[in-house]
Amino acid sequence: MSTDKPTLVNRDAKVVIRPWTGSNEPVPIVSASGCTVTDEDGRTFLDFTSGYFVNQAGHCHPNIVEAATAQLKAVTQVSGRHTTPPVVDLAERLTEAAPDPISRIFFTTGGSESNENAVKMARQTSGKTDILCIDNAYHGLTGGVLGGCSAPKYRATSGLPDDEVVRRFFRIPAPYCYRCPKQNDCATQCLDGVEATVEARPETAALLAEPVQAVGGIVPPEAWWTRLDGIRKKHRLLLVLDEIQTGLGRTGTMFAAEHYGLEPDILTVGKGISGGVGALAGVMASDAIASEYYGGTTPTSAGNAVSAAAGAALFDTIVSEGLLANCSAMGRYFTEAVEALDDPWVGDVRFKGLLGGVELVSDRESREVLPGELVGQVKETLFGEGMLLTVSGPHKNVLRLQPPLSITSKQLDSFVDALKRTLEITRSTAG
Ligand code: PMP
Repeated sequence: MSTDKPTLVNRDAKVVIRPWTGSNEPVPIVSASGCTVTDEDGRTFLDFTSGYFVNQAGHCHPNIVEAATAQLKAVTQVSGRHTTPPVVDLAERLTEAAPDPISRIFFTTGGSESNENAVKMARQTSGKTDILCIDNAYHGLTGGVLGGCSAPKYRATSGLPDDEVVRRFFRIPAPYCYRCPKQNDCATQCLDGVEATVEARPETAALLAEPVQAVGGIVPPEAWWTRLDGIRKKHRLLLVLDEIQTGLGRTGTMFAAEHYGLEPDILTVGKGISGGVGALAGVMASDAIASEYYGGTTPTSAGNAVSAAAGAALFDTIVSEGLLANCSAMGRYFTEAVEALDDPWVGDVRFKGLLGGVELVSDRESREVLPGELVGQVKETLFGEGMLLTVSGPHKNVLRLQPPLSITSKQLDSFVDALKRTLEITRSTAG
């Protein structure tokens, strides 16, 4: 009988349900600091997942640790009928930074739940039922928003016939300019049929969209948002912005709505708003919508005081450490450095701040998608080089590279060197 102590991964595999893991996952992370995480065997990785796009100021930032620790000794959890100082602190910061006319927040325990509430709010306010979404969108996997998710593999998780899942949702094309059949710059022809589509659905309550799509880092041109926003206003659709991933500085502004001058009626937040401490998210709305809202989802753990204290500390740290400016500068630096490799497999490098990644192709001229097997090899080789990342995108060929907003050019250089070696090795072994 083996006397070897089981590894954390072996123990995890026996007792934890993980529907979405791939090779080399889960990594048994035992400590983390700044932009790096360390595994059970002492191996250190540069974290391009930021704890799934949560730790904007880096892992275990001293300001956040201090705020959360102090709050642990004061009060942790109260009923949603009551309040605590950090909950109000965080709500004030978020509403102050949010685009007009957003002025209130309902705290939840996660992004999907926030979008559930957003959809409820839109329906309650408008008295209508249907929700217009964008292809390639991800809004969470709970029942009430699953229909808004573009990928069939996600909708299939419901175990229901797809037409039932999508019944109240419909979609229009994504502004995926790199693969735009018109190759335009940007005449927004992809929106030509949208008015007719909306007119055919008079029961539409709202447009639910991410300002910049997180899956594959799809960055809409300004003209696209201007035209779509005009259409939705003309047809009196509420604007529900999902800023769960773009919010808290990820695109170089506190909220990505700023890039496009959007004025959402409802806005959802998650991820970074807990500063990485516990599960906290929220749905924000104008006074008019918030004051009429009833029901919510009565989340037991929402508004946890420790999470809120950590979130407020993260918010303040983003400001005091100039992380928005660093995010924009590093996004540009990263883009230029990867483009400078001039690698035949690098099809598109797109970042808005530090949201985005590198789209891999087997041929730059035809833009043929690099086969999944080779994308997988690239990811694994990068993992061997100490780079922690995921792959995303409509064709699953985008290296998603979203480090903490505190990343340095030196750290990015080490990734770019590793990417250069990785692409060359993978190409040579692929024959
Ligand atoms: N919307 C977007 C844009 C997201 O990125 C996510 C999470 N990846 C969600 C919604 C769902 O959030 P959660 O995983 O916290 O439920």
